[in-house]
Amino acid sequence: MSTIATNLKYVRDRIARAAERSGRSAADITLVAITKTVATDACREAYAAGQRIFGENYAQELAEKAMELADLDIRWHFTGHLQSNKAKLVAPLVACVETIDSFKLADALDQRAKKPLDVLIEVHIGGEESKSGVAENALPELVRDMAKLGNLRLKGLMVLPPFELDAASARPYFQKLRALMEHINEKELYPEPLTELSMGMSHDFEVAIEEGATIVRVGTAIFGERT
Ligand SMILES: *Cc1c(COP(=O)(O)O)cnc(C)c1O
Repeated sequence: MSTIATNLKYVRDRIARAAERSGRSAADITLVAITKTVATDACREAYAAGQRIFGENYAQELAEKAMELADLDIRWHFTGHLQSNKAKLVAPLVACVETIDSFKLADALDQRAKKPLDVLIEVHIGGEESKSGVAENALPELVRDMAKLGNLRLKGLMVLPPFELDAASARPYFQKLRALMEHINEKELYPEPLTELSMGMSHDFEVAIEEGATIVRVGTAIFGERT
């Protein structure tokens, strides 16, 4: 087996064990392989090992990779900060944009999406360290406004805790994200209940799964350290 295939198997095993520990099914957890800065040959290896969902952080890099890998049946997630003026480039290429952080961006994607597009709202939780995402207190209004957009389907929330935190310190961020989603559903702020929590990366995905993650975004543990 190639290193990437071995790594993928190990990550999948760890996902399964974390799910089992929390009384959940591994089938309910989606692994997004984060391929930013990763060469397309490595993406092909992951694909050959059964991975189908990939995530990119930069619009231009996504466009290039999507073109080079167009022969593969990949579902792309966009996981980086997205400027509204890149909506036109990104909307036709992706199955999901995980990083809605303003109505302006949601509206731009809605106009550019030719068919229903799944999206998540990235929430900025807590301290100043993490700069991306919508503030907690602006979340209810954004959710309500997004109900007016015909092409976007809001599925859930995403969080990126400050990078320097270890897994244990990230846990409260994951708990908070889950509580925010439950609040949105209790108040019925969106026509459909939200179901997805995208949280957890290479160093903390097991903790995130214990706290209810349905999507984990893993790069380094699959592809090795980025250069
Ligand atoms: C880079 C990145 C990841 C993956 O991080 P790793 O530590 O390499 O697993 C996940 N989510 C987002 C938003 C990222 O930018």
